[in-house]
Amino acid sequence: MRCPICKKPTDGSAANRWRPFCCERCRLIDFGRWMGEDYRAPDAPGERVREPRPADRKD
Ligand SMILES: [Zn+2]
Repeated sequence: MRCPICKKPTDGSAANRWRPFCCERCRLIDFGRWMGEDYRAPDAPGERVREPRPADRKD
């Protein structure tokens, strides 16, 4: 099998503690990737920033 991150051939047996990745680094990259997407989602471009409503302001 191949590492999903770097695409290098990797050991898919139980002897490879990082499978399906080739090493700890690739496993962390994958983990950080989906964590990052999760954290980025609320500030994604196009998402409106909440601001005080004009009705709440008194001039
Ligand atoms: Zn890798």
